[in-house]
Amino acid sequence: MSSEPAFKRRGLMLAVVSPSGVGKTSLTRRLIADHPDLHLSISATTRDPRPGEHDGREYHFVDRASFQAMIDDDAFLEWAEVYGNFYGSPKKPIFDSLERGESVLFDIDFQGSEIIRDHAPEDVVRVYVLPPSLAEMSRRLHARSQDSEEVIHKRLGRAKDEVAQWSKFDYVILNDDFDKAYAELAHIYHAERSRRSRSLWIEPFIQGLLDEEI
Ligand code: 5GP
Repeated sequence: MSSEPAFKRRGLMLAVVSPSGVGKTSLTRRLIADHPDLHLSISATTRDPRPGEHDGREYHFVDRASFQAMIDDDAFLEWAEVYGNFYGSPKKPIFDSLERGESVLFDIDFQGSEIIRDHAPEDVVRVYVLPPSLAEMSRRLHARSQDSEEVIHKRLGRAKDEVAQWSKFDYVILNDDFDKAYAELAHIYHAERSRRSRSLWIEPFIQGLLDEEI
């Protein structure tokens, strides 16, 4: 008996959501680096690249006309306007990964995670990452000095509204210590990946056990 199809798993969509300045990007990038079966969904965005960002690595940086053409072609699983810019998750690479039994990580906002949950409730696991305090979040946003004072103020206001939605998530992680928060995120991914409903190998394997002559 070939073990390849028998050991198949169904991939999951792991949506990691947090206000900006909580360290979510460092957590998700490390999870991707440590797990070759997990791929980042690289969003398209109309915002300008920040220093150090590269097209095709953090985002696909596109103009508004190209973004609109992708909406018209139904190329996004979800898209949203965030702080005046558009962001969207291109469908094709997501479904290609899932079909290979691999998983996809979404670094998206709360609205986007609601939409993908509605599309695929069985496949989506939602994790919310909390800052230790808004003061710490504000300190991190100032330290990275990528946003104007006005944008930082908007991000903090929006964080309060978002944090109030905590009970909609499957898991909530407090990022007061990077290593601890990372270990929790990795444990969540490992457990969810092994869920019985995603372990398509179990049924044929059990059948094989039951058919064994003893
Ligand atoms: P930033 O501009 O700081 O990279 O991202 C701003 C916000 O947009 C973050 O909360 C980020 O998670 C979210 N975001 C990034 N890509 C997507 C996407 O494809 N869809 C949605 N809905 N939000 C996104």
